[in-house]
Amino acid sequence: MNGRTKKKLVKEIKVNLDKCIGCRACEVACSGFHATPKYSSINPARSRIRVVTDLVNDVLVPIRAGDYASSECTGRQSFTIDGKEYSECTFCTVSCPARDLFREPDSGLPLKCDMCEDVPALAEPMCVQVCRVGALVYSEREEEREAKPKLGQMEFALQTLVEKHGLESVLDTVARMAKKG
Ligand code: SF4
Ligand code: SF4
Repeated sequence: MNGRTKKKLVKEIKVNLDKCIGCRACEVACSGFHATPKYSSINPARSRIRVVTDLVNDVLVPIRAGDYASSECTGRQSFTIDGKEYSECTFCTVSCPARDLFREPDSGLPLKCDMCEDVPALAEPMCVQVCRVGALVYSEREEEREAKPKLGQMEFALQTLVEKHGLESVLDTVARMAKKG
């Protein structure tokens, strides 16, 4: 480790479940903001935030779309607690090939929350702006992260070979090539 660090801006939206009233304004705002052209249509099915019902605790939970999983999750358990059914998928934020919660309805492409990145930048993401009861709270903080050195083409190729075949094998091959040359 060379000890070099760089600062990264981390954006977060915290959810206060006690405040959410299930109005779904966040879904409307997100889908409008991401329509092409902007605000030309509203379709919550295209929203990167969806309000689902937590059947166990009988509360509404706004969930944002996370990363896309290329393979189907094997979790299919469901539990019945106090007479209510709980599905494993309920709180998963992944845009999943087995479930269409976070998929663009026409194309089937996965949707992902981009924190409403725009130029010029918004003061707060759209879903936070329209949530009048303060159930969504936006925050930013800077984190120090270790800076990964930028690799040149040659280094990158060598690193890939070493990861695939091991250092010894790569060095042997280079030595043999050098002898031939
Ligand atoms: S806008 Fe706020 S209160 Fe309304 S559903 Fe979304 S998170 Fe809940
Ligand atoms: S931050 Fe923006 S993209 Fe993400 S869910 Fe909220 S409105 Fe949608």
